[in-house]
Amino acid sequence: MSATTAPEGFEVAAATGVHRLSIPTPFAVGRVNCYLIDDEPLTLVDAGPNSGTSFDELTRALASLGKSLEEIELVIVSHQHIDHLGLVGLVAARSGADVATIDHAVPMVERFAEEMQADDDFATATMLRHGIPEDVVRALQSVSRAFRAWGAPAKVTRVLHDGDTIDFRDRSWKVHWRPGHSPTDTVFEDAERRMLIAADHLLGHISSNPLITRPLDADGERPQSLVTYLDSLTETRAMDLDLVLPGHGDPVTDHRKLIDDRFAGHRRRADKLHRLIADRPRSAHELAQALWGNIAVTQAYLTLSEVLGHTDLLLNAGRVREVEDGGTVRFEAT
Ligand SMILES: [Zn+2]
Repeated sequence: MSATTAPEGFEVAAATGVHRLSIPTPFAVGRVNCYLIDDEPLTLVDAGPNSGTSFDELTRALASLGKSLEEIELVIVSHQHIDHLGLVGLVAARSGADVATIDHAVPMVERFAEEMQADDDFATATMLRHGIPEDVVRALQSVSRAFRAWGAPAKVTRVLHDGDTIDFRDRSWKVHWRPGHSPTDTVFEDAERRMLIAADHLLGHISSNPLITRPLDADGERPQSLVTYLDSLTETRAMDLDLVLPGHGDPVTDHRKLIDDRFAGHRRRADKLHRLIADRPRSAHELAQALWGNIAVTQAYLTLSEVLGHTDLLLNAGRVREVEDGGTVRFEAT
């Protein structure tokens, strides 16, 4: 436990009717936190990945709170990642619940497989452009195709917009779009209780990876995920909050300190990459290897995203430039 997180936060939340359901995932991140809101409508925020084990645990977790899956009236999807949305369609089918998500996430939730394929095609081009060897790219494509089984589409029946309010009998939530970790990250603020459901926008125990993701508009430039993410964090930092409930790990009790730590960490990493680039021009893949050594294939895209996020900061500050040579990009110091 660090100074900024505390497991007791789950009890504080539960006393207000917000219950954490810890659901297993097959991914390196471990369990995902879904939340049951014991109110009207009876609401589930995220549902876990699409697997029998996760479904069983979700059903049992609801039963331990005296609820059944069939009673759920509303499922809210926090963002487009499969550890959060995989079971949404099944829960909605069993319960007849409404499915709500931010406008930006609707295509991903409704046409999951096609959108994931488009994401993978974009990731392939990005990886090759930034120096990841072809055999690694091919291996990663098959890993991603296998992972896709943990996702599934769902019909969105209630489209949310940034700034909307979700009214319950005993509370009301403000909807804030906070992209960066993914293009569709959404957080839900209970201003009266100074409580935020943050999903993966702010995690206590690990830095949220600002994954490089396909632009939301088809012909757009590659989004600067980390730059977008830092802007989103700045907005969250300005909020008055006592408790942040994340998508993984323990609740965050001092979001300003945690966000300041994250800002400092990103500055340090950008400086470190700048030193490596000043030493000699390198591709993003070579930079990732210099930072983390020989990276597991499954981590190649995560580490590439991490590097590109920071070279974006350096590019914007005019400290490095991109030089393209035979289809591969290298960064060199200005
Ligand atoms: Zn997650």
